[in-house]
Amino acid sequence: MPYSSNLPNGPAERLTPVITETMKYIKIKCNICGSNDYKILYRSNIGSSNPSVEDYTSTVNKYSVFNNIVKCKKCGLVYMNPRDVEVNALYKDVVDNAYLETWQERAETFNEHLKIIAKYKSCGKLLDIGCYAGIFLDEAQKKGYKVTGIEPSVWASDYARKKTGATIINAGCNEKLFFPAKEFDLVTLWDVVEHLDNPSLCLSNIYNYLKRDGIVVITTHDIGSIFAKLMGKRYPWLMRFHFYHFTPTTLSALLAKNKLEVICTKYYSKKFTLDYILSRFGINVKGDILKRIKIPVNLGDMFMIITKKKA
Ligand SMILES: [Zn+2]
Repeated sequence: MPYSSNLPNGPAERLTPVITETMKYIKIKCNICGSNDYKILYRSNIGSSNPSVEDYTSTVNKYSVFNNIVKCKKCGLVYMNPRDVEVNALYKDVVDNAYLETWQERAETFNEHLKIIAKYKSCGKLLDIGCYAGIFLDEAQKKGYKVTGIEPSVWASDYARKKTGATIINAGCNEKLFFPAKEFDLVTLWDVVEHLDNPSLCLSNIYNYLKRDGIVVITTHDIGSIFAKLMGKRYPWLMRFHFYHFTPTTLSALLAKNKLEVICTKYYSKKFTLDYILSRFGINVKGDILKRIKIPVNLGDMFMIITKKKA
C-alpha cells in the first residue's frame, strides 16, 4: 500500500488522488477528529513543481515551501492539505551524506534526551521509528538499551544497521504491524511525527507495541510558539515533507485518542555547528574552524512529549 488512509486512525486504504494537469495531490481529513471543515492559514507556494527525492531528504534547505497549510475548525489541528501522494517511494530513495557530517552534535542532543528519558525508563527494549542513519540508536545502545529501528530510506536503514548491528526494518512505519504486542519498553519518534501520513494510525500501532508500563517519547516543532507566530508563512519548518504542525495541545489530543496519556512536556535546545547553521541559509564556508563551534539553538519552538498507556 503506497500510502495510507485519510480517515483518522482508519485502516490503510487507497485514496483517490486529486489530479491536476501536471501533478497529483491528495486531500486530507483531520487526523484527530476526522473533520473536513478547515480554514486556510497559508496558501500553497509550491506552484506546479512535482516533488523530488531532495524535497523528502532531512537536510534539504527548502524552508517555507509548502502546499496549503490549513487549520481544522473543529479541533485546531494544523496540517498540509492537499499534499503529495506516494511519498514512500521518495523516502525510500533518500541518500543524505550531509546529515552524517552533523553526527557529533546530533549525538550530543540525543544524549541530553537520554538523560531525560532515563528518569522514566533507564533500560529495556527500545524502538526508534524513523531512525534514519541510527545516531540515536547508537547512543541509546551505548547506554544499555536493546535497540530496534524502522526507517523508510534504504540508504539510512543500511547505515543504521551497519553502525549498530541492530534489527532495522526498512519500511514506512504504518505498512503493517511489524512486532508482537507488548514488545517494547520505550518507543521514540525524533522529529518524525510531523512527517507521517497518518500519525494516528502510527500511534495506534505503537500502543499495541508497548508493554503495559511502556512509554513513548516524541519531539516536534510547535506551530503555536511565539517564533512560529512571528514568522507566519516564513516559519522555516513549513516544509513540503512536514505534513503536520502540532502544538502540545493538539499532539496531546491525538495521543489521548490513542489511549496515551501525557506525563511530561518540555521545550529543549538543539546543538548545531556554526558552519551547518550557515549552510542552511545557503552560505558555505570552507575550513574546519566553524565545524568546531557548536551552538545550542532554542527558539522556544521545539518540544518533547513523554507519554504512557492510560491505566
Ligand atoms: Zn480536527
